[in-house]
Amino acid sequence: MINFQYVRANSIADAVNLIADDPAAKFVAGGTNLIDLMKMDVEQPTKLIDISRLALDKVEDTAEGGLRIGAMVRNSDLAYHPAVEARYPVLSSAIRAGASQQLRNMASTGGNLLQRTRCAYFYDIALPCNKRTPGSGCGALAGHNRMHAILGTSDACIAVFPSDMCVALALLEARVHVSGPNGARTIAFDAFHRLPGETPQRDNNLEPGEMIVAVELPSAGFASNYSYLKIRDRLSYAFALVSVGVGLEIADGRIKAARLALGGVAHKPWRDTRAEAALAGQAANEAVFRQAADIVLRDARGFGHNNFKIELARRAIIRALTQAANGTPQSQSNKKIA
Ligand code: SF4
Repeated sequence: MINFQYVRANSIADAVNLIADDPAAKFVAGGTNLIDLMKMDVEQPTKLIDISRLALDKVEDTAEGGLRIGAMVRNSDLAYHPAVEARYPVLSSAIRAGASQQLRNMASTGGNLLQRTRCAYFYDIALPCNKRTPGSGCGALAGHNRMHAILGTSDACIAVFPSDMCVALALLEARVHVSGPNGARTIAFDAFHRLPGETPQRDNNLEPGEMIVAVELPSAGFASNYSYLKIRDRLSYAFALVSVGVGLEIADGRIKAARLALGGVAHKPWRDTRAEAALAGQAANEAVFRQAADIVLRDARGFGHNNFKIELARRAIIRALTQAANGTPQSQSNKKIA
């Protein structure tokens, strides 16, 4: 592990100024991913700017009927917040599907968006990885790629983004509020994370020196018909092989509106508005759900070890849509799939 300085930011402006003075510095909040990366020499910041004590720990109603979630709200506090449980249960469920209780107690809302891939080649500095060292190659392409992406890949990188929470934020059409050297701005959730393309070293569209200050949810929470289904190798504490978040608006047995996003399959939460449009106006039945799954997976591609994910994703989409339509969402306490 390297030597680094530690400073504590007293305000958002202070934090932004501190990082502007030292572009090789990093913000640290819960530290649940960054400290691991530092221990393995993947991240080597000159300075850690601690933002964990900033007054960004509130969940507040917005004038538009939504919620504004401060970047420092801990994942546990958010999952069990009464407004989230009642109005956005798919978000509560997705958070509870992720990590362990201890990690959720530390991890922050902003940090969840900024966590890095768990690709094993990325974490081993002796191996090639275009995300860690651009131009060095991708060890996973011809290597062990069982956990890797099947959608939106490039020749440079096939890593997946590991968050569960962000799958729910994608389907809820959250917005990300950021502050930086050029002031404040808001980023639509779908435009926040990036596909790898030729620049897999960039996970998201934050500009240098920008920090997340809040995530905002619009009013539509799909509280009656939703599900978050996570398929993983073991039921406790494992990253998703495939996960599916669903929100439906149903009237008289027909789907009025649909939201559908996948985790564990791409470099970002994978939302497919074409599949959502195909579901709208249809009866809520398995044939319709199968068509939607076919649309989502129309360009899916495996790399050997992960070929099984394509059929797994198809079945998980159909199952999650069925759970949502029936009003029987996947339980995160009893993880047996119904
Ligand atoms: Fe690196 Fe991406 Fe290849 Fe993994 S998949 S080794 S993160 S370039």
